[in-house]
Amino acid sequence: MIIDGKQVAAQLRVAIAEEVKALKKSKGITPSLTVVLVGEDPASQVYVRNKAKQTMEVGMISNEIRLPVNCSQLELLAQLSQLNKDTSVHGVLVQLPLPKHIDESVIIAAITPEKDVDGFHAMNSGRLFNGEPGALVPCTPQGCIILAKQHLGDDLSGKHAVVIGRSNIVGKPVALLLLQENCTVTIAHSRTKNLAQVCQQADILIAAVGRAEFVQADWVKKGATVIDVGINRVEDAVTGKMKLVGDVDFAGVSDVCGAITPVPGGVGPMTIACLLKNTLEAAKLYG
Ligand code: NAD
Repeated sequence: MIIDGKQVAAQLRVAIAEEVKALKKSKGITPSLTVVLVGEDPASQVYVRNKAKQTMEVGMISNEIRLPVNCSQLELLAQLSQLNKDTSVHGVLVQLPLPKHIDESVIIAAITPEKDVDGFHAMNSGRLFNGEPGALVPCTPQGCIILAKQHLGDDLSGKHAVVIGRSNIVGKPVALLLLQENCTVTIAHSRTKNLAQVCQQADILIAAVGRAEFVQADWVKKGATVIDVGINRVEDAVTGKMKLVGDVDFAGVSDVCGAITPVPGGVGPMTIACLLKNTLEAAKLYG
């Protein structure tokens, strides 16, 4: 089975649009997302444009603040302080990566946790860690769980999940979400020994490594659910053109696993859909 992230994301956006409509009607609140973009990185511009388009499509208000690449950290902090105070704004997202002279951790900490729709603020990761309500959970990990459930159904309890990668934005939060789902969770990383054998234990294998086609067919248990988070740009051996591939050898692993997400068209589309979900959540909880 190929898990179609595009289709699942589209269904999620329809459900979000309905909830947005209901929230407007019941409480007069229209969820609103402000994205701050510093500089003119082409990939970031594409992401920001897509986010704005999809935000408006579900009936939310989308704002964009563009700052020049040489904007100082203080100027960016001043902008965030205004957004934090603005009661008409429910979600604030600073597009990463930031220029080198700006400290990302300072910026993430400056967004009020109630508007931190990326879920990167320590208060939100702490709430996720503690399993407390009210956490805004990072978007890509949320998307991974929704996609795994497409194949396995809602009850993941007792499954052995192996996550390759321990970053704060994907590996660690997805491991915590899997634990909340009562999975037995193993986190593998660059220092893990016998990685292939560790992966062979997995009923659910999540690859968030950033290495093209890294996970091989003989690492995967027959019937496993494979969620490929990786986005790697490589040259196509035949056409010579650049193309996107995941962290999993899709062709080989597809023959062994029970279900797999493609790249592109798997986890990627879920990330923005879950950003909209978080913006709705922020408006409902704190708006
Ligand atoms: P990262 O570089 O922060 O983390 C990579 C992790 O992989 C590290 O924790 C490291 O320990 C582990 N790793 C590296 N080499 C390894 C090896 N040889 N064996 C085992 N583990 C190894 O990356 P990230 O930000 O977590 O992103 C991972 C991938 O996911 C990237 O390709 C990124 O582009 C992609 N990504 C996709 C989305 C999406 O929306 N689909 C969102 C975020 C990240």
